[in-house]
Amino acid sequence: MGNGSSIESSKTIFLDINDKEEKIVFSRHCSSRDIHELIATIAAVNRHSTISIKDENGAHISLSPTMPANNQGCPYKVYIKEPNEPQGDSEAFQTVLTQVTEQINRVFKMEELKSELSTRLTTLEKRLEIEGLKVVEIEKCKRDISDIKDQIWNAQKKYTDNEIQLCSKIDKIKIPRHNVATFEKYTLSQETVDYVKQPTFDIWHWEPNEMLSLLEHMYHELGLVHEFNMNPITLKRWLLCVQENYRNNPFHNFRHCFCVTQMMYGMIQLCTLWDFVSREDLGILMTAAVCHDLDHPGYNNTYQINARTELAIRYNDISPLENHHCAVAFQIISNPECNIFANVDKDTFKRVRAGITMLILATDMARHAEIMESFKDKFNKGFNFKNKEHLDTLKMVLIKCCDISNEVRPMEVSEPWVDCLLEEYFNQSDREKSEGLPVAPFMDREKVTKPTAQIGFIKFVLIPMFETAANLFPQIDDVMVRPLREAKDRYEEMKSQEDNLKEPGSKAQ
Ligand code: 5GP
Ligand code: MN
Repeated sequence: MGNGSSIESSKTIFLDINDKEEKIVFSRHCSSRDIHELIATIAAVNRHSTISIKDENGAHISLSPTMPANNQGCPYKVYIKEPNEPQGDSEAFQTVLTQVTEQINRVFKMEELKSELSTRLTTLEKRLEIEGLKVVEIEKCKRDISDIKDQIWNAQKKYTDNEIQLCSKIDKIKIPRHNVATFEKYTLSQETVDYVKQPTFDIWHWEPNEMLSLLEHMYHELGLVHEFNMNPITLKRWLLCVQENYRNNPFHNFRHCFCVTQMMYGMIQLCTLWDFVSREDLGILMTAAVCHDLDHPGYNNTYQINARTELAIRYNDISPLENHHCAVAFQIISNPECNIFANVDKDTFKRVRAGITMLILATDMARHAEIMESFKDKFNKGFNFKNKEHLDTLKMVLIKCCDISNEVRPMEVSEPWVDCLLEEYFNQSDREKSEGLPVAPFMDREKVTKPTAQIGFIKFVLIPMFETAANLFPQIDDVMVRPLREAKDRYEEMKSQEDNLKEPGSKAQ
């Protein structure tokens, strides 16, 4: 045994690297990696290259210290494949690296400046206090102190402004990384084309790309591409950009956007709305639905206001989220590649912008009673489709109906949404508890269950609202109000089962 290890402490291997004969010698105790790196060095290639070797019969030889020895007449042939790093990735990495370095440098500079100025300030203050300077000197010192304080404030402000600009999604919308080529044109079957017009449409069945294609189809089918003279590629890019700017919240995500828009499309079909309103109004309704929850952060207005978030401050506590959704919508549109309204005249754009803004702002549930009262008032006086105010109120009611219409859908489709909503609610209430903010009982995991969340909402919000809309369009009653009543009965049944489980003996007594 002792003999074996001493006889051959090193090994010689003959190689053919790029038709040049080379000899390598290595210890039996070295690693495969060492041999790999030795060959890479000889071949003058990147050490991360893939290296394989074959004998004269073409058999692969494993690159290890135990590899079979050969002789000078029969060198092993070396095959090298250099890594081809994708240029884009390395460039992107470099850019990120540079940005991070700049950030760090800025922080360091800022800290250095602060510490230098603070030291000067302390020294001056001490001199002023201890030495008892002459009046003239005191005045000069005071000016110096005040200058230094200003410098610290300005430097700090410049730094924070920079941070806000870098981090805030308010100022920076997301532009899709991939282009429209990856958003394939799905060929929609006639069956799908008909099915997507129904409120019974199963919205869970579709991948994000398919939802994009379906939305695109709706714009074409309703004649909106023609009405606004849209570039079809711009429509695709706009939809992609919208999708990118929905966050992955449990509830307020791109699928919710799709649901609301598909319900709007369904209601337009159900009410044959084109007989009563202009194509321009249909475009306003559809586009407001698509954009209505853009960049929703997953925490509602109450949280924004109580936590005094940047959004609440920016919008003075007045519908901060809805204002934000709307601002993001028009930031997207302001991008020429995504401007679906690029080819309309100024006056049309003004009307469309005002219309979309009005509808997105109307989705704030804090305004529910106000909007419903306004609609009922107009209905009681005799609804007039030619009256702009009447029409505006109708459009607001329509987007509100679509926004909260999950329970109109069949049970299998609607029920998972309640879990999503509760997940988002609980997430918020947990955070509110940990931050010492007020918690709404309907969001509290200790107080709410699926049926309790839905019964009141269906009874007092959904059914009255859809019944009111059905006064103008009676077809809504059978297609939308009926499933709502069924859903309410189902949740009441579910609740009584829950109650029985909690108090098993209560019914028997
Ligand atoms: P949003 O514009 O936020 O999507 O919809 C308005 C609000 O209505 C939601 O944030 C949520 O609080 C409430 N809402 C929508 N659908 C339902 C539902 O099915 N059940 C309950 N309880 N609330 C809902
Ligand atoms: Mn919504």
